[in-house]
Amino acid sequence: MTLEKQGAPAEDVLAELAALRAADLPTHGGRTWAYVYDSGLAGLDALAHRAAEAVTGLNGLDPTVFPSLLTMENEVVAAAARLLGGGPGTVGTVTSGGTESILLAVKAARDGRHDVERPQLVAPVTAHAAFAKAAEYFRVELVPVEVDPVTFRPDPADVAAAITDRTVLVVASAPSYAHGVIDPVVEIAAVAAERGVRCHVDACIGGWVLPFWRRLGVPMPGFDLSVPGVTSLSVDLHKYAYAPKGTSVLLHRDAELRRSQYFAFADWPGYSMINATMQSTKSAAPLAAAWAVLRHLGEEGYLALAEQTLAATRTLIAGVEAVEGLRVLGPPQASLVAFGAADDGPDLFVLADELTVRGWYVQPQFALGALPTNLHLTVTAASAPKIEPFLADLRDAVAAAHAHGPVAVDAGIVEWLRTLDPSTLTSEEFGGLLAAGGLAPGDGGGAFALPARMAEINALLAAAPPRLRERLLIEFFGLLYTP
Ligand SMILES: *Cc1c(COP(=O)(O)O)cnc(C)c1O
Repeated sequence: MTLEKQGAPAEDVLAELAALRAADLPTHGGRTWAYVYDSGLAGLDALAHRAAEAVTGLNGLDPTVFPSLLTMENEVVAAAARLLGGGPGTVGTVTSGGTESILLAVKAARDGRHDVERPQLVAPVTAHAAFAKAAEYFRVELVPVEVDPVTFRPDPADVAAAITDRTVLVVASAPSYAHGVIDPVVEIAAVAAERGVRCHVDACIGGWVLPFWRRLGVPMPGFDLSVPGVTSLSVDLHKYAYAPKGTSVLLHRDAELRRSQYFAFADWPGYSMINATMQSTKSAAPLAAAWAVLRHLGEEGYLALAEQTLAATRTLIAGVEAVEGLRVLGPPQASLVAFGAADDGPDLFVLADELTVRGWYVQPQFALGALPTNLHLTVTAASAPKIEPFLADLRDAVAAAHAHGPVAVDAGIVEWLRTLDPSTLTSEEFGGLLAAGGLAPGDGGGAFALPARMAEINALLAAAPPRLRERLLIEFFGLLYTP
Protein backbone atom coordinates (compact mmCIF):
# COMPACT_ATOMS: atom_id res chain seq x y z
CA MET A 1 0.00 0.00 0.00
CA THR A 2 1.25 3.47 -0.82
CA LEU A 3 0.11 7.00 -0.22
CA GLU A 4 -2.57 7.71 -2.82
CA LYS A 5 -1.44 10.13 -5.51
CA GLN A 6 -4.63 12.10 -5.07
CA GLY A 7 -6.09 12.38 -1.58
CA ALA A 8 -9.72 11.47 -0.82
CA PRO A 9 -12.44 13.93 0.32
CA ALA A 10 -12.82 14.17 4.11
CA GLU A 11 -16.29 12.56 4.13
CA ASP A 12 -15.02 9.59 2.16
CA VAL A 13 -12.14 9.10 4.57
CA LEU A 14 -14.51 9.17 7.54
CA ALA A 15 -16.90 6.76 5.83
CA GLU A 16 -13.96 4.43 5.25
CA LEU A 17 -13.06 4.63 8.93
CA ALA A 18 -16.64 3.91 9.96
CA ALA A 19 -16.57 0.81 7.77
CA LEU A 20 -13.36 -0.34 9.43
CA ARG A 21 -14.88 0.24 12.87
CA ALA A 22 -17.71 -2.18 12.10
CA ALA A 23 -15.40 -5.09 12.94
CA ASP A 24 -14.60 -3.73 16.43
CA LEU A 25 -16.20 -4.84 19.68
CA PRO A 26 -18.61 -2.29 21.16
CA THR A 27 -16.94 0.16 23.57
CA HIS A 28 -20.25 1.08 25.17
CA GLY A 29 -23.24 -0.82 26.47
CA GLY A 30 -21.64 -3.30 28.87
CA ARG A 31 -21.24 -6.30 26.53
CA THR A 32 -17.44 -6.08 26.35
CA TRP A 33 -16.10 -7.27 29.73
CA ALA A 34 -12.49 -6.11 29.28
CA TYR A 35 -10.43 -3.28 27.78
CA VAL A 36 -13.22 -0.67 27.87
CA TYR A 37 -14.72 1.38 30.70
CA ASP A 38 -18.16 2.80 30.18
CA SER A 39 -19.74 5.26 32.61
CA GLY A 40 -23.06 4.91 30.82
CA LEU A 41 -23.46 8.68 31.17
CA ALA A 42 -24.78 10.48 28.11
CA GLY A 43 -22.55 13.36 27.05
CA LEU A 44 -19.45 12.41 29.03
CA ASP A 45 -17.51 11.26 25.97
CA ALA A 46 -18.59 14.34 24.05
CA LEU A 47 -17.24 16.57 26.83
CA ALA A 48 -13.92 14.71 26.82
CA HIS A 49 -13.64 15.02 23.05
CA ARG A 50 -14.37 18.74 23.13
CA ALA A 51 -11.74 19.25 25.81
CA ALA A 52 -9.25 17.27 23.74
CA GLU A 53 -10.11 19.33 20.68
CA ALA A 54 -9.48 22.54 22.63
CA VAL A 55 -5.83 21.60 23.10
CA THR A 56 -5.15 20.01 19.72
CA GLY A 57 -1.74 21.03 18.49
CA LEU A 58 -0.32 21.92 21.89
CA ASN A 59 2.86 20.14 22.89
CA GLY A 60 3.13 18.66 26.37
CA LEU A 61 6.91 18.79 26.01
CA ASP A 62 7.19 22.29 27.42
CA PRO A 63 4.78 23.43 30.15
CA THR A 64 6.35 26.90 30.24
CA VAL A 65 5.15 27.53 26.69
CA PHE A 66 1.70 26.01 27.31
CA PRO A 67 0.91 26.88 30.93
CA SER A 68 -2.67 25.62 30.58
CA LEU A 69 -1.21 22.11 30.57
CA LEU A 70 0.81 22.82 33.71
CA THR A 71 -2.30 24.03 35.52
CA MET A 72 -4.41 21.06 34.43
CA GLU A 73 -1.72 18.54 35.33
CA ASN A 74 -1.19 20.01 38.80
CA GLU A 75 -4.95 20.00 39.38
CA VAL A 76 -5.34 16.38 38.28
CA VAL A 77 -2.41 15.26 40.44
CA ALA A 78 -3.79 17.17 43.43
CA ALA A 79 -7.19 15.52 43.01
CA ALA A 80 -5.60 12.07 42.84
CA ALA A 81 -3.40 12.76 45.86
CA ARG A 82 -6.37 13.94 47.89
CA LEU A 83 -8.41 10.86 46.97
CA LEU A 84 -5.58 8.44 47.67
CA GLY A 85 -4.21 9.42 51.04
CA GLY A 86 -1.56 11.89 49.90
CA GLY A 87 -0.14 14.37 52.38
CA PRO A 88 1.04 17.96 51.98
CA GLY A 89 4.31 16.84 50.34
CA THR A 90 2.71 14.50 47.80
CA VAL A 91 3.65 15.20 44.17
CA GLY A 92 3.04 13.34 40.94
CA THR A 93 3.05 13.15 37.18
CA VAL A 94 0.35 12.52 34.59
CA THR A 95 1.49 9.71 32.28
CA SER A 96 0.05 7.99 29.22
CA GLY A 97 -1.22 4.92 31.09
CA GLY A 98 -0.68 2.39 33.83
CA THR A 99 2.30 0.85 32.11
CA GLU A 100 4.12 4.17 31.80
CA SER A 101 3.36 4.99 35.46
CA ILE A 102 4.83 1.62 36.46
CA LEU A 103 7.86 1.98 34.18
CA LEU A 104 8.56 5.36 35.73
CA ALA A 105 8.06 4.11 39.30
CA VAL A 106 10.64 1.37 38.65
CA LYS A 107 13.03 3.79 36.92
CA ALA A 108 12.72 6.27 39.79
CA ALA A 109 13.39 3.52 42.33
CA ARG A 110 16.38 2.20 40.40
CA ASP A 111 17.94 5.59 39.76
CA GLY A 112 17.28 6.69 43.32
CA ARG A 113 19.72 3.99 44.44
CA HIS A 114 22.99 4.50 42.58
CA ASP A 115 24.70 2.64 45.42
CA VAL A 116 23.07 -0.62 44.24
CA GLU A 117 24.90 -2.31 41.40
CA ARG A 118 22.55 -5.08 40.25
CA PRO A 119 19.15 -3.79 41.35
CA GLN A 120 16.23 -6.09 42.14
CA LEU A 121 12.48 -5.60 42.17
CA VAL A 122 10.35 -7.77 44.50
CA ALA A 123 6.82 -8.39 43.23
CA PRO A 124 4.12 -11.00 43.85
CA VAL A 125 3.55 -13.21 40.78
CA THR A 126 0.10 -11.61 40.53
CA ALA A 127 1.63 -8.15 39.94
CA HIS A 128 0.80 -6.69 36.54
CA ALA A 129 3.03 -7.72 33.62
CA ALA A 130 4.11 -4.07 33.36
CA PHE A 131 6.56 -4.72 36.23
CA ALA A 132 8.20 -7.50 34.22
CA LYS A 133 8.35 -5.10 31.30
CA ALA A 134 9.98 -2.43 33.48
CA ALA A 135 12.47 -5.01 34.77
CA GLU A 136 13.34 -6.00 31.21
CA TYR A 137 13.56 -2.44 29.87
CA PHE A 138 15.61 -1.10 32.77
CA ARG A 139 17.66 -4.21 33.48
CA VAL A 140 16.36 -4.69 36.99
CA GLU A 141 16.10 -8.28 38.19
CA LEU A 142 12.51 -9.32 38.88
CA VAL A 143 12.23 -11.39 42.07
CA PRO A 144 8.80 -13.08 42.08
CA VAL A 145 6.96 -13.95 45.29
CA GLU A 146 4.47 -16.81 45.19
CA VAL A 147 0.87 -16.23 46.25
CA ASP A 148 -1.61 -18.46 48.04
CA PRO A 149 -3.50 -20.52 45.41
CA VAL A 150 -6.84 -19.85 47.15
CA THR A 151 -6.62 -16.22 48.28
CA PHE A 152 -4.20 -15.14 45.50
CA ARG A 153 -2.33 -12.99 48.03
CA PRO A 154 1.34 -13.13 48.99
CA ASP A 155 2.42 -13.80 52.56
CA PRO A 156 4.18 -10.63 53.82
CA ALA A 157 6.79 -12.92 55.42
CA ASP A 158 7.67 -14.24 51.95
CA VAL A 159 7.96 -10.67 50.67
CA ALA A 160 10.24 -9.83 53.61
CA ALA A 161 12.37 -12.91 52.89
CA ALA A 162 12.75 -11.90 49.22
CA ILE A 163 14.18 -8.46 50.09
CA THR A 164 17.96 -8.21 49.82
CA ASP A 165 20.51 -5.40 49.96
CA ARG A 166 19.98 -5.08 46.21
CA THR A 167 16.21 -4.56 46.38
CA VAL A 168 15.24 -1.10 45.12
CA LEU A 169 11.46 -1.55 45.05
CA VAL A 170 8.75 -3.74 46.55
CA VAL A 171 5.36 -3.97 44.84
CA ALA A 172 1.81 -4.53 46.09
CA SER A 173 -1.42 -4.44 44.06
CA ALA A 174 -4.70 -2.83 45.08
CA PRO A 175 -6.19 -4.86 43.57
CA SER A 176 -4.40 -7.26 41.23
CA TYR A 177 -5.82 -7.26 37.72
CA ALA A 178 -6.04 -11.03 37.39
CA HIS A 179 -8.20 -11.87 40.44
CA GLY A 180 -9.29 -8.51 41.85
CA VAL A 181 -7.87 -9.14 45.32
CA ILE A 182 -5.98 -6.58 47.40
CA ASP A 183 -2.48 -7.50 48.58
CA PRO A 184 -1.70 -6.96 52.30
CA VAL A 185 -0.38 -3.47 51.59
CA VAL A 186 0.01 -2.41 55.24
CA GLU A 187 2.21 -5.42 56.05
CA ILE A 188 4.18 -5.32 52.79
CA ALA A 189 4.88 -1.58 53.10
CA ALA A 190 6.03 -2.16 56.68
CA VAL A 191 8.58 -4.83 55.74
CA ALA A 192 9.85 -2.63 52.88
CA ALA A 193 10.18 0.38 55.17
CA GLU A 194 12.02 -1.70 57.75
CA ARG A 195 14.68 -2.42 55.11
CA GLY A 196 14.70 1.16 53.82
CA VAL A 197 13.26 0.09 50.46
CA ARG A 198 10.63 1.93 48.42
CA CYS A 199 7.16 0.39 48.12
CA HIS A 200 4.91 1.00 45.12
CA VAL A 201 1.17 0.33 45.24
CA ASP A 202 -0.30 -0.53 41.87
CA ALA A 203 -3.79 0.95 42.19
CA CYS A 204 -3.99 1.41 38.42
CA ILE A 205 -7.36 -0.25 38.22
CA GLY A 206 -8.65 0.11 41.78
CA GLY A 207 -7.52 3.59 42.67
CA TRP A 208 -10.62 5.38 41.40
CA VAL A 209 -13.07 2.80 42.79
CA LEU A 210 -11.87 1.60 46.20
CA PRO A 211 -11.91 5.03 47.93
CA PHE A 212 -15.55 5.46 46.88
CA TRP A 213 -16.50 1.93 47.91
CA ARG A 214 -14.96 2.66 51.32
CA ARG A 215 -17.21 5.72 51.61
CA LEU A 216 -20.15 3.48 50.73
CA GLY A 217 -19.32 1.34 53.75
CA VAL A 218 -17.42 -1.51 52.08
CA PRO A 219 -14.73 -2.77 54.51
CA MET A 220 -11.44 -1.77 52.95
CA PRO A 221 -7.91 -2.52 54.16
CA GLY A 222 -5.35 0.28 54.00
CA PHE A 223 -3.91 0.47 50.50
CA ASP A 224 -3.03 4.06 49.66
CA LEU A 225 -0.44 6.72 50.49
CA SER A 226 -1.84 7.08 54.00
CA VAL A 227 -0.23 3.69 54.76
CA PRO A 228 3.23 4.19 56.32
CA GLY A 229 5.96 2.91 54.01
CA VAL A 230 4.06 3.34 50.75
CA THR A 231 6.31 5.62 48.70
CA SER A 232 4.51 5.72 45.34
CA LEU A 233 1.14 4.79 43.85
CA SER A 234 -0.27 4.56 40.33
CA VAL A 235 -3.89 5.12 39.33
CA ASP A 236 -5.24 5.06 35.79
CA LEU A 237 -7.73 7.75 34.84
CA HIS A 238 -8.56 5.90 31.62
CA LYS A 239 -10.07 3.09 33.69
CA TYR A 240 -12.49 3.95 36.50
CA ALA A 241 -12.16 7.73 36.19
CA TYR A 242 -13.88 7.10 32.81
CA ALA A 243 -11.48 9.40 30.94
CA PRO A 244 -10.47 8.58 27.35
CA LYS A 245 -7.49 6.29 26.83
CA GLY A 246 -4.07 7.75 27.53
CA THR A 247 -4.08 9.00 31.12
CA SER A 248 -2.70 7.67 34.39
CA VAL A 249 -1.23 9.37 37.46
CA LEU A 250 1.95 8.37 39.26
CA LEU A 251 2.06 9.79 42.79
CA HIS A 252 5.16 9.99 45.00
CA ARG A 253 5.06 10.54 48.74
CA ASP A 254 7.44 13.49 48.35
CA ALA A 255 9.40 15.44 45.76
CA GLU A 256 12.69 13.84 46.78
CA LEU A 257 11.38 10.42 45.67
CA ARG A 258 10.23 11.80 42.32
CA ARG A 259 13.52 13.47 41.38
CA SER A 260 15.10 10.30 39.93
CA GLN A 261 12.04 9.79 37.71
CA TYR A 262 12.92 12.90 35.69
CA PHE A 263 15.31 12.97 32.75
CA ALA A 264 17.37 16.02 31.89
CA PHE A 265 20.06 16.39 29.25
CA ALA A 266 22.01 19.51 28.39
CA ASP A 267 24.93 17.92 26.52
CA TRP A 268 23.70 18.40 22.98
CA PRO A 269 23.35 21.50 20.82
CA GLY A 270 19.55 21.47 20.74
CA TYR A 271 17.08 22.80 23.30
CA SER A 272 17.72 21.87 26.92
CA MET A 273 15.89 18.64 27.54
CA ILE A 274 13.83 18.07 30.65
CA ASN A 275 11.18 15.32 30.61
CA ALA A 276 8.94 14.10 33.40
CA THR A 277 7.75 11.07 31.39
CA MET A 278 9.03 8.60 28.79
CA GLN A 279 7.62 10.67 25.95
CA SER A 280 9.09 14.02 24.99
CA THR A 281 6.76 15.64 22.46
CA LYS A 282 3.38 14.50 23.68
CA SER A 283 -0.26 15.05 22.99
CA ALA A 284 -2.10 17.32 25.41
CA ALA A 285 -5.43 15.75 24.48
CA PRO A 286 -5.57 12.93 27.08
CA LEU A 287 -4.67 15.30 29.93
CA ALA A 288 -7.26 17.92 28.94
CA ALA A 289 -9.91 15.24 28.45
CA ALA A 290 -9.22 13.65 31.85
CA TRP A 291 -9.14 17.04 33.55
CA ALA A 292 -12.53 17.91 32.01
CA VAL A 293 -14.09 14.58 33.03
CA LEU A 294 -12.83 14.94 36.62
CA ARG A 295 -14.06 18.55 36.84
CA HIS A 296 -17.44 17.56 35.44
CA LEU A 297 -18.16 14.46 37.50
CA GLY A 298 -16.74 15.60 40.82
CA GLU A 299 -16.89 13.51 43.99
CA GLU A 300 -20.61 12.97 43.87
CA GLY A 301 -20.52 11.87 40.26
CA TYR A 302 -17.88 9.25 41.00
CA LEU A 303 -19.63 8.13 44.15
CA ALA A 304 -22.81 7.46 42.17
CA LEU A 305 -20.90 5.56 39.47
CA ALA A 306 -19.07 3.55 42.14
CA GLU A 307 -22.37 2.67 43.80
CA GLN A 308 -23.77 1.34 40.51
CA THR A 309 -20.59 -0.62 39.93
CA LEU A 310 -20.72 -2.08 43.45
CA ALA A 311 -24.30 -3.25 43.06
CA ALA A 312 -23.54 -4.72 39.63
CA THR A 313 -20.44 -6.52 40.93
CA ARG A 314 -22.34 -8.06 43.85
CA THR A 315 -25.17 -9.26 41.62
CA LEU A 316 -22.69 -10.69 39.14
CA ILE A 317 -20.71 -12.56 41.81
CA ALA A 318 -23.85 -14.07 43.35
CA GLY A 319 -25.20 -14.98 39.92
CA VAL A 320 -22.00 -16.69 38.77
CA GLU A 321 -21.68 -18.56 42.09
CA ALA A 322 -25.19 -19.93 41.52
CA VAL A 323 -24.22 -21.46 38.17
CA GLU A 324 -23.36 -25.11 38.60
CA GLY A 325 -19.82 -25.88 37.51
CA LEU A 326 -18.48 -22.34 37.98
CA ARG A 327 -16.76 -20.80 41.00
CA VAL A 328 -15.78 -17.20 41.61
CA LEU A 329 -12.12 -16.86 42.56
CA GLY A 330 -10.85 -14.69 45.37
CA PRO A 331 -13.41 -13.60 46.47
CA PRO A 332 -13.02 -10.32 44.59
CA GLN A 333 -12.52 -7.15 46.64
CA ALA A 334 -12.98 -4.76 43.75
CA SER A 335 -14.99 -4.58 40.53
CA LEU A 336 -13.06 -7.35 38.77
CA VAL A 337 -14.54 -10.83 38.73
CA ALA A 338 -12.57 -13.93 37.73
CA PHE A 339 -14.30 -17.27 37.71
CA GLY A 340 -12.92 -20.75 37.24
CA ALA A 341 -14.48 -24.11 36.53
CA ALA A 342 -15.26 -26.75 39.14
CA ASP A 343 -13.88 -30.26 38.51
CA ASP A 344 -17.03 -31.23 36.63
CA GLY A 345 -17.39 -27.75 35.16
CA PRO A 346 -17.30 -26.68 31.51
CA ASP A 347 -14.20 -26.10 29.40
CA LEU A 348 -13.64 -22.38 30.01
CA PHE A 349 -12.20 -21.70 26.56
CA VAL A 350 -15.27 -23.27 24.97
CA LEU A 351 -17.46 -21.30 27.36
CA ALA A 352 -15.76 -18.06 26.27
CA ASP A 353 -16.56 -18.91 22.65
CA GLU A 354 -20.16 -19.70 23.53
CA LEU A 355 -20.43 -16.28 25.18
CA THR A 356 -18.91 -14.64 22.10
CA VAL A 357 -21.60 -16.28 20.00
CA ARG A 358 -24.16 -14.72 22.34
CA GLY A 359 -22.61 -11.25 21.98
CA TRP A 360 -20.45 -11.04 25.12
CA TYR A 361 -16.69 -10.66 25.25
CA VAL A 362 -14.98 -12.19 28.32
CA GLN A 363 -11.23 -12.44 28.79
CA PRO A 364 -9.58 -15.86 29.17
CA GLN A 365 -6.65 -15.95 31.62
CA PHE A 366 -4.29 -18.92 31.57
CA ALA A 367 -3.31 -21.06 34.53
CA LEU A 368 0.03 -20.28 36.19
CA GLY A 369 1.48 -22.93 38.46
CA ALA A 370 -1.22 -23.66 41.06
CA LEU A 371 -3.33 -20.66 39.94
CA PRO A 372 -6.20 -21.92 37.80
CA THR A 373 -7.40 -20.98 34.33
CA ASN A 374 -10.25 -18.48 34.54
CA LEU A 375 -12.44 -16.01 32.71
CA HIS A 376 -12.10 -12.37 33.67
CA LEU A 377 -14.82 -9.71 33.74
CA THR A 378 -14.27 -6.01 34.40
CA VAL A 379 -17.49 -4.52 35.77
CA THR A 380 -18.22 -0.85 35.09
CA ALA A 381 -21.12 1.46 35.84
CA ALA A 382 -22.65 0.62 32.46
CA SER A 383 -22.65 -3.10 33.33
CA ALA A 384 -25.49 -2.68 35.83
CA PRO A 385 -28.46 -3.21 33.45
CA LYS A 386 -26.57 -6.02 31.68
CA ILE A 387 -26.01 -8.36 34.63
CA GLU A 388 -29.30 -10.27 34.39
CA PRO A 389 -29.19 -10.73 30.59
CA PHE A 390 -25.55 -11.78 30.91
CA LEU A 391 -26.34 -14.36 33.60
CA ALA A 392 -29.15 -15.81 31.51
CA ASP A 393 -26.78 -16.20 28.55
CA LEU A 394 -24.06 -17.55 30.85
CA ARG A 395 -26.30 -20.39 32.05
CA ASP A 396 -27.19 -21.11 28.45
CA ALA A 397 -23.54 -20.98 27.39
CA VAL A 398 -22.49 -23.36 30.17
CA ALA A 399 -25.03 -25.91 28.93
CA ALA A 400 -23.78 -25.43 25.37
CA ALA A 401 -20.15 -25.82 26.49
CA HIS A 402 -21.01 -29.09 28.25
CA ALA A 403 -22.77 -30.30 25.11
CA HIS A 404 -19.75 -29.31 23.00
CA GLY A 405 -17.31 -30.97 25.37
CA PRO A 406 -13.76 -29.85 26.13
CA VAL A 407 -11.22 -29.18 23.39
CA ALA A 408 -8.21 -31.41 23.77
CA VAL A 409 -4.84 -30.71 22.25
CA ASP A 410 -3.54 -33.74 20.39
CA ALA A 411 -1.04 -35.65 22.57
CA GLY A 412 1.47 -35.62 19.74
CA ILE A 413 1.29 -31.83 19.53
CA VAL A 414 1.73 -31.49 23.29
CA GLU A 415 4.81 -33.72 23.00
CA TRP A 416 6.11 -31.62 20.10
CA LEU A 417 5.53 -28.39 22.08
CA ARG A 418 7.83 -29.79 24.78
CA THR A 419 10.64 -30.15 22.26
CA LEU A 420 10.42 -26.57 20.97
CA ASP A 421 13.08 -24.16 22.19
CA PRO A 422 11.64 -20.64 22.52
CA SER A 423 15.04 -19.04 21.91
CA THR A 424 15.54 -20.74 18.55
CA LEU A 425 11.97 -21.22 17.28
CA THR A 426 11.99 -21.14 13.48
CA SER A 427 9.29 -19.70 11.25
CA GLU A 428 8.66 -23.24 9.93
CA GLU A 429 7.97 -24.46 13.46
CA PHE A 430 5.70 -21.49 14.04
CA GLY A 431 3.92 -22.18 10.77
CA GLY A 432 3.41 -25.77 11.90
CA LEU A 433 1.85 -24.58 15.14
CA LEU A 434 -0.46 -22.19 13.31
CA ALA A 435 -1.63 -25.06 11.16
CA ALA A 436 -2.12 -27.22 14.27
CA GLY A 437 -4.30 -24.45 15.68
CA GLY A 438 -6.31 -24.37 12.46
CA LEU A 439 -4.76 -21.09 11.33
CA ALA A 440 -2.91 -20.22 8.19
CA PRO A 441 -1.32 -16.88 7.36
CA GLY A 442 -2.88 -15.06 4.46
CA ASP A 443 -0.95 -14.37 1.26
CA GLY A 444 2.29 -12.65 2.10
CA GLY A 445 1.33 -12.75 5.78
CA GLY A 446 -1.33 -10.08 5.30
CA ALA A 447 -5.12 -10.32 5.56
CA PHE A 448 -4.77 -12.54 8.59
CA ALA A 449 -8.21 -13.37 9.95
CA LEU A 450 -8.82 -14.85 13.37
CA PRO A 451 -11.34 -17.68 13.48
CA ALA A 452 -14.69 -17.09 15.14
CA ARG A 453 -13.89 -19.76 17.72
CA MET A 454 -10.73 -19.38 19.77
CA ALA A 455 -10.90 -22.46 22.04
CA GLU A 456 -8.50 -24.56 19.96
CA ILE A 457 -5.94 -21.75 19.85
CA ASN A 458 -6.31 -21.02 23.57
CA ALA A 459 -5.92 -24.71 24.39
CA LEU A 460 -2.77 -24.84 22.29
CA LEU A 461 -1.37 -21.71 23.96
CA ALA A 462 -2.26 -23.09 27.39
CA ALA A 463 -0.29 -26.26 26.63
CA ALA A 464 2.83 -24.19 25.89
CA PRO A 465 5.01 -23.21 28.87
CA PRO A 466 5.14 -19.42 29.52
CA ARG A 467 8.50 -18.81 27.76
CA LEU A 468 7.30 -20.60 24.62
CA ARG A 469 3.93 -18.85 24.78
CA GLU A 470 5.72 -15.49 24.89
CA ARG A 471 7.70 -16.42 21.80
CA LEU A 472 4.58 -17.61 19.99
CA LEU A 473 2.83 -14.33 20.78
CA ILE A 474 5.79 -12.38 19.41
CA GLU A 475 5.72 -14.41 16.18
CA PHE A 476 1.97 -13.91 15.99
CA PHE A 477 2.23 -10.12 16.40
CA GLY A 478 5.00 -10.03 13.84
CA LEU A 479 2.66 -11.75 11.43
CA LEU A 480 -0.29 -9.46 12.21
CA TYR A 481 1.83 -6.34 11.82
CA THR A 482 3.06 -7.19 8.38
CA PRO A 483 1.52 -4.70 5.95
C1 LIG B 1 -4.45 -1.86 33.57
C2 LIG B 1 -3.45 -2.15 34.63
C3 LIG B 1 -2.10 -1.82 34.48
C4 LIG B 1 -1.51 -1.34 33.16
O1 LIG B 1 -2.12 -0.26 32.67
P1 LIG B 1 -2.22 0.13 31.13
O2 LIG B 1 -3.02 1.38 31.23
O3 LIG B 1 -2.91 -0.98 30.41
O4 LIG B 1 -0.86 0.37 30.61
C5 LIG B 1 -1.27 -2.04 35.55
N1 LIG B 1 -1.72 -2.57 36.69
C6 LIG B 1 -3.01 -2.94 36.86
C7 LIG B 1 -3.45 -3.54 38.15
C8 LIG B 1 -3.92 -2.75 35.83
O5 LIG B 1 -5.18 -3.13 35.97
